[in-house]
Amino acid sequence: MEGQAMFAPPAAESQGPSAPPAGMFDSMPGYEGTVAGGGGGFLPPPMPAFPVPQPEPGPEQPHWNIPSITEDTAREAFALFASSKCCYSSAPAKDGVITKMDAFNTYRYRLETFTELRSTEWSHEPYRGQPVDAFAQPPPGPWDILAKTPTFYVDDQQIMKVPYTSSMKPCHDCVGMGRKPCKDCAGAGNKVCWVCNGSGYRHGDDRCNHCSGRGRENCSHCQGQGAKQCATCQGKQQLLVYIKLTVKWTNNSDSYVVEQSSGLHAENLSDVSGKELFRDSQYLVYPVMGFPDTTVVNAAQRLVNEHQGKYSRTSRILQQRQTIELIPVTKVTYSWKGKLNNYFVYGNEFQVNADNYPATCCCTVM
Ligand SMILES: [Zn+2]
Ligand SMILES: [Zn+2]
Ligand SMILES: [Zn+2]
Repeated sequence: MEGQAMFAPPAAESQGPSAPPAGMFDSMPGYEGTVAGGGGGFLPPPMPAFPVPQPEPGPEQPHWNIPSITEDTAREAFALFASSKCCYSSAPAKDGVITKMDAFNTYRYRLETFTELRSTEWSHEPYRGQPVDAFAQPPPGPWDILAKTPTFYVDDQQIMKVPYTSSMKPCHDCVGMGRKPCKDCAGAGNKVCWVCNGSGYRHGDDRCNHCSGRGRENCSHCQGQGAKQCATCQGKQQLLVYIKLTVKWTNNSDSYVVEQSSGLHAENLSDVSGKELFRDSQYLVYPVMGFPDTTVVNAAQRLVNEHQGKYSRTSRILQQRQTIELIPVTKVTYSWKGKLNNYFVYGNEFQVNADNYPATCCCTVM
């Protein structure tokens, strides 16, 4: 018999590493409901033992002044806009005469809530001599494990082993063999020669030179071994089984833009910045007060309530920040070839919007 099968061919082999059986996981005090894979369930933070600091009113901002742009700025921005569109004629931007400039400056209130979420799941990795510490002492609770200090308002995550949950187990995928039968040759290490179809001969009496007349050829997937290294334990036969803790930091941001009646769609404003009039960052913010526009005050109240309710249920709020920006919006009316047209200049970046540019020659580029 050619080639030695190291294993009997399996009846059915699933693709990829199989899921470990539930019996592989020890019962860990405080982690009884932990499941394997799937990202794990989030763990609501415990009620704080110390009194939660109460939100403090933010600093009062006495000057809510309104800047406006000059005609020169508007004209330059418009010329730049026209030249950035390949087939727009520059004539309207160059020769148009500005007849009117109307300010439709608007406010954007933004609330950011920086949260920490913790979740656990059973996990495993090939055993390479890592310390085994299960049951040396009860594992600390998921919120008692020290994580790194995150940078506020920056998304990040950290993955750790929960201390005192690591143990060594034989690999479930290869039953501790370190190798698994090759799928391509069913563990035989060789296959029927595809040139002579197993006969060993071609064209009557000519010996098949592909298999030297053997009728079989080595399996290229396992180099004739009949087995391949187990991917789950990477041939180590043993696994380190442990509870994995994922700490995830997320900056949750919502904003509100005061509606302006200029005709410029509010979604245009999402990619520009404004002049920051107010900034307040603390553990929990108190909704901004005393701002002249009451819709901003109402939006602040609503968003602060929403965020503090929503995020404290599933995660720990680490910091909140609220800002108010004044976004300059100017509607420019100009005359060109005896007709009145208009465009908008908005944001610190002097973005231009001119949906009805009068000289778009060959194609319609928005
Ligand atoms: Zn052959
Ligand atoms: Zn093979
Ligand atoms: Zn294995």
